Amino acid sequence: MHRTFFIETFGCQMNKGDSDLMRLSLEKAGFIEANTSEEAEICLFNTCSVRQHAEDRAVSRIESTKYGKGGRKKIVVIAGCAAQRIGDDIVKSGRADIAVGPYQSPMIGEIVKDYIENGFKCRSLFVSQNTEDFQERLNEGLINSREENPWHKWVTITHGCENFCTYCIVPYVRGKLISFPSERIIQFIKDLAAQGIMEITLLGQNVNQYGQDSGDIPFYKLLEKTAQVEGLEKINFLTSHPMDFSTEIVRVMADHPNISRGIHLPLQSGSDSVLKRMNRKYTMKSYMDIIEAINRTLPDYAISTDLIVGFPGETEDQFNETLDAVKKIRYDEAFMYAYSPRKGTPSFKLEEKLSRNEKIDRLNRLISLQREISLEKLKSRIDKTENAIAERISKKSSEEISGKTSLNHPVVFRGDAGDLGRVIPLRITEVRGSTLFGEKI
Ligand code: SF4
Repeated sequence: MHRTFFIETFGCQMNKGDSDLMRLSLEKAGFIEANTSEEAEICLFNTCSVRQHAEDRAVSRIESTKYGKGGRKKIVVIAGCAAQRIGDDIVKSGRADIAVGPYQSPMIGEIVKDYIENGFKCRSLFVSQNTEDFQERLNEGLINSREENPWHKWVTITHGCENFCTYCIVPYVRGKLISFPSERIIQFIKDLAAQGIMEITLLGQNVNQYGQDSGDIPFYKLLEKTAQVEGLEKINFLTSHPMDFSTEIVRVMADHPNISRGIHLPLQSGSDSVLKRMNRKYTMKSYMDIIEAINRTLPDYAISTDLIVGFPGETEDQFNETLDAVKKIRYDEAFMYAYSPRKGTPSFKLEEKLSRNEKIDRLNRLISLQREISLEKLKSRIDKTENAIAERISKKSSEEISGKTSLNHPVVFRGDAGDLGRVIPLRITEVRGSTLFGEKI
């Protein structure tokens, strides 16, 4: 009987959460986690399909894993978004033994056990996402998932997405929106707080659409109920969509200081024409309305975004509109990408006029503008008072503690193990790279 397993995770936070569910399910089925893929008898690859490069990297890892040291055959499992897209082919060609989609994560232990005991030759499994069983097990995983930061938990509130942004593969591999029942979510969060968890992140592809599929309470009410859970010092939410980001969310944030002041609001492009081709369903005007509502309501906050340059048909003027938006909004941080066509998405069929080099040139111009702004904004924190959750002893010095401020900036300060898991008021003294340094008040 194969007993040891190793999970290699690619891609986003949702995948990391699914890997936690897989680990839990495998351990429940009697398997033991190995330290490396070389040692493991069962290798699971939780793949990402968002970019061709990510998918190719996962497939190449799968192809090189089939045999361990001494030529011993391993059981190889392809899971996650790429499995949903190409898993069947990978299994049929003999490169993997089992393919499962993202919605089998909580059952993977039984699937692997069944495979071993019944000696199936190969197996591809993609069941419906909307099963009671799935929700039940997902919820179990919420409580038990492991994290690097012992005071924090990710709490998945929705799965799937039906927004169909034209560059994005997610709706095709993760399926329709499902919101987990709010009563269950709040109960889990209460249980987490009772276990000493201080910070949570509500997670979904578009959290602002929470409840739209099920008729449950809207997102801002879920956020409000979460903020009222006793013992929670900080609540984050990811990812927001400007189409659904209502002013009620801003009001709830203003009413509850334990909701993080670090807001992530993906803009993608500053050009209405490009936004339309991306099928983003908002305009620069409606995006700016949200920014103005935040400015009016929250005295201090940090804002981050995602930006894509070189989308098919993006002219120099349209790219300049993105630069203008960045100058106007002054993001604290931005995740910036040059567009790369993704097979299986509608924009794959759009004609590209820019060469790779031209896209990279635009990306570099955007990055250098954003770097300047990020640094100026970080420096503007000097001499301010910030509350930070002390997360861990710094890797660089046993006398330093690292954590994050309520605006989600990484921060380091002199302290000791007694600070861990507490909210520490700090005066910011310095910026090094993208980290703030402070001293206890
Ligand atoms: S909102 Fe758009 S970018 Fe985000 S997951 Fe859905 S389709 Fe993809």
